[in-house]
Amino acid sequence: MKVKLFNISIVSMLLFSCTPVSVEEDKINAIIAEMTLEEKAAQMLNLGLPSVLTGEYWDLRTSIEYDSVRFTEYIEKLNVGSIHNTVHPHYLSDKEEWHGILKTIQDASLNNTRMGIPVIYGIDNIHGANYVKNSVMFPHQIGLAATRNTELVAETAKITSYESRAASLPWTYNPNADISFSPLWGRIAESFGEDPYVVSQMTESYIDGSQGESLADETSTAVCVKHYLGYGAGANGKDRANAVIPEGMLRQLFIPPFAKAIASGAMSVMVSSNSVNGIPCHANSYYINDILKGEMGFEGVVLSDFSDVEFLVEAHEVVDNKKEATWMTINAGLDMIMNPYDADIVDFIVEGVTSGAVSQERIDDAVRRILQLKFRLNLFDKPYSDPNDFPKIGSAEHIETNYKAATESLTLLKNDGILPLPVGKKILVTGYASNSLNVLNGAWSRTFLGQLPDFNDSSKQTIFEAIKATNKGVGNTLFEQGTDYLTDVNTAAVVRKAKQADYIVVCVGELPATEKPSDINELDLPSAQQDLIKKLSKLGKPIIMVMVQGRPRIIRDVEPLSNAILMAYLPGQEGGRAIADVIFGKVNPSGKLPYTYPKFTGNMLPYYHKKTDIRSIYWDYNGFYPQYPFGHGLSYTTFALSNFVADADTIMGDGSIELKINVKNTGKRKGKATVELFIRDLIASVVPDVKKLIRFQKIELSPNEEKTISFTLNTEHLKFVNAKNEWVVEPGAFTLFAGIDPDNPMEMNIEYKN
Ligand code: BGC
Repeated sequence: MKVKLFNISIVSMLLFSCTPVSVEEDKINAIIAEMTLEEKAAQMLNLGLPSVLTGEYWDLRTSIEYDSVRFTEYIEKLNVGSIHNTVHPHYLSDKEEWHGILKTIQDASLNNTRMGIPVIYGIDNIHGANYVKNSVMFPHQIGLAATRNTELVAETAKITSYESRAASLPWTYNPNADISFSPLWGRIAESFGEDPYVVSQMTESYIDGSQGESLADETSTAVCVKHYLGYGAGANGKDRANAVIPEGMLRQLFIPPFAKAIASGAMSVMVSSNSVNGIPCHANSYYINDILKGEMGFEGVVLSDFSDVEFLVEAHEVVDNKKEATWMTINAGLDMIMNPYDADIVDFIVEGVTSGAVSQERIDDAVRRILQLKFRLNLFDKPYSDPNDFPKIGSAEHIETNYKAATESLTLLKNDGILPLPVGKKILVTGYASNSLNVLNGAWSRTFLGQLPDFNDSSKQTIFEAIKATNKGVGNTLFEQGTDYLTDVNTAAVVRKAKQADYIVVCVGELPATEKPSDINELDLPSAQQDLIKKLSKLGKPIIMVMVQGRPRIIRDVEPLSNAILMAYLPGQEGGRAIADVIFGKVNPSGKLPYTYPKFTGNMLPYYHKKTDIRSIYWDYNGFYPQYPFGHGLSYTTFALSNFVADADTIMGDGSIELKINVKNTGKRKGKATVELFIRDLIASVVPDVKKLIRFQKIELSPNEEKTISFTLNTEHLKFVNAKNEWVVEPGAFTLFAGIDPDNPMEMNIEYKN
């Protein structure tokens, strides 16, 4: 029943009556005291946008039309707490249309409801504000990790925030802080890779860039760090598969990025869809209540992933009805439920409290967290933005940062000296990824899977178009695609054309996809794409292989047939241009692999595996043969390291030591180098990791220029998780490796004494 006086909601009266010095907490308490149980339950609901539109949820739409019955029911009667994402397949709205959508929803939430609480709208800004027309689309996270440039990552997040807010979208379901433990996993592209330190640093930078100084600043968005916990370690490499993660490993590898995110002020966390050790994360009170909210002290909102309460029944089969699944997940610590299709959970929550299955305190705690997020984002006062205040969406300035991110992500894996290519020679560009903006952008690009061709922006260049634009001279750039993702289209025509060429650029790649559609059964680069390279190699002409893929697909057989190999990951809208600029040498590549590139399917371990995973008792390398090691990445110049020194050879107690190393550009070109510092514990009470990254630093050097880099090393860096699942440092010897080339570092031994 609506209780309204002169069209003023209860919240606006409560807020009006607060003195200017009232703190946020007082306001929240006042609102909670006034809310009915049903209103509280509705705050915990996160609906999908199509649920308030006409037609069926998954209908293909060409416009946004509200269903008046559902709109009234969910938004005006229930005052639903949150709405997410867009329609599917996507009808792309620009910032003005998004403003209209948010204005319609928020005006109704604020003015036509009893309490007047604004909706918080969440969206998957996976590589930019990718569901807003004209936004820039950056390299996916895996490429950002390869830049090893934390400032640049913060900058991309800041722009994403701005462009999201331009469309009145204040809450982003990113960054992804998953450790990509299995190279088979289809969502590697959305992660920062396999290394907990890189993932932690990049996650922190993303949050800094996204949330800014204050969320009340209209260009900041609140992050939702995901997917908590162990999502990237599905035992069979498939999406949403059960992961087997012992407690020690969980604490050493998977928790640190989330702990860093919480310490960096992340406002919300999304729980992972999978189970770990047979317990669905959504039902895991130990992970959510004890570790996340307890140990990490997280005070923000914990959100479920898409339909996952339902999946406790239908997929995980740990309960046989959705009502109890709802209670189970709220008791495990969930504050908001992504229940896209309808509002059934509202009744379940109400019944849960009246029957005693869920406590009133738990509900109040959840609502408190949700209201806090809404206050921090200033949604009560400014529930949507004025699109005119955001003229820089898709601006030249934003495109320039995007281009920079793409260029710094590109990772040169092999070069026998053929690159950079001279301009003006005959070049054949071929392969599945050679002429497609979709493949460069991957999933989450205007549509969920990024496979619809109509998002293509004619101002952007594919790899072929960008090479052609630089390679001046009529008829100098030849093109023939030759293969699709899995099939030969016309490789015979490619071979015929290649006979006229001086150089062949073969662009291999992956089908844009994510989640279950990205599952694969073989890690090998699809055979049709390998066959193309094999056929071309018979011509004896130089081959440059460009890989446009999130995962490291196995290329053991075609690697020796290529004179140069450039890993582009999923480089986004400026990827074509960036790739061409590296190929012709306008840009000196500086990316470094954010994962171990496997050579064999029988050997898919991260670099920090336990020594006993791969070594015989004779301590020879007994099977760990990556195609390229973690951190590998070449440059067109050369760098030399010298003077790796420490101011002491022993760390005592809680002390620290200072390390220094000199880096010199010994080549002829300006270039960027990343020095990575790894540590190896020589003897430990649990089998030590082979090595562990503890620092990295990227610098730019002109020819002959030399710089000294310093790192402070303290006991925190020496710690590992012992058999009692505690972080400890044990006295003894450690080896430090500082390198640009991970296979050729400088080494030093130090001691720890307590
Ligand atoms: C994905 C999440 C995403 C959510 C909302 C889920 O299926 O796993 O990463 O944020 O959908 O679109």
